[in-house]
Amino acid sequence: MNIILLGPPGAGKGTQAQKLIKELNAVQIATGDIFRYNIKNETDLGKQAKSYIDEGKLVPDKLTIDLVWDFLDKVEDGKSILLDGFPRNITQAEALDEGMQKRNSKIDYVVNIKVPDDILIERISGRRVCVETGATYHIKYNPPKVEGIDDETGFPLIQRSDDTEEKVKTRIDLYNNTTAVLIDYYDKEGILITIDGTKTPDEVTKDILKALGK
Ligand code: ADP
Ligand code: ADP
Repeated sequence: MNIILLGPPGAGKGTQAQKLIKELNAVQIATGDIFRYNIKNETDLGKQAKSYIDEGKLVPDKLTIDLVWDFLDKVEDGKSILLDGFPRNITQAEALDEGMQKRNSKIDYVVNIKVPDDILIERISGRRVCVETGATYHIKYNPPKVEGIDDETGFPLIQRSDDTEEKVKTRIDLYNNTTAVLIDYYDKEGILITIDGTKTPDEVTKDILKALGK
């Protein structure tokens, strides 16, 4: 089963992806995590993506789509895929449709996680992430066992440089103007599931699994 997690920054895509990959035995592709890892390690991809991410803009489509294909090429046939943060516009969605066809595969469901803007801002300002693993925490809603340390790996947690209130507003506007059109795109394909993302993380996971028939 191949699934896209759709929703504005802070909706809980990464948090749900972490839980769902275990439940669905799926591979996660989180474009934001891959960019951050490359920026931290100063790779060519990281150098090319950094200025866009710092400004809260989208990284150019070609770079992003190539990165997704490189990743998909390494996924064994038949393994479920969970996309988090991709696609983010119509060009990427069309490229994904084409690419999945080439793999003789398709997207089965798009899970649209809905959360109002004021909650998004509160969530993002308390977010902490592990750049090595992509694990996500919140200082109030989902604190790590030891402050500043990833529970599972012991790697340090950081606050993302694009998680300031000003940049978050830019990113939410970008979502509303560029990414939200995908809700209609996938609704027309008949594969959209809409989930209330304001409940607790565990409740949201339960609602998603139920909607997927799991
Ligand atoms: P969030 O979880 O807050 O929505 P992400 O971690 O998914 O943020 O993405 C962080 C940043 O990485 C985005 O603001 C954007 O600059 C870049 N990015 C991630 N995914 C894509 C994509 N599919 N296309 C273009 N840029 C992307
Ligand atoms: P996204 O990937 O959509 O940008 P994240 O999964 O990173 O969102 O979640 C954003 C922040 O909100 C994180 O700090 C996370 O711990 C927290 N969070 C996620 N889901 C919930 C929830 N259902 N209730 C409260 N806080 C949440």
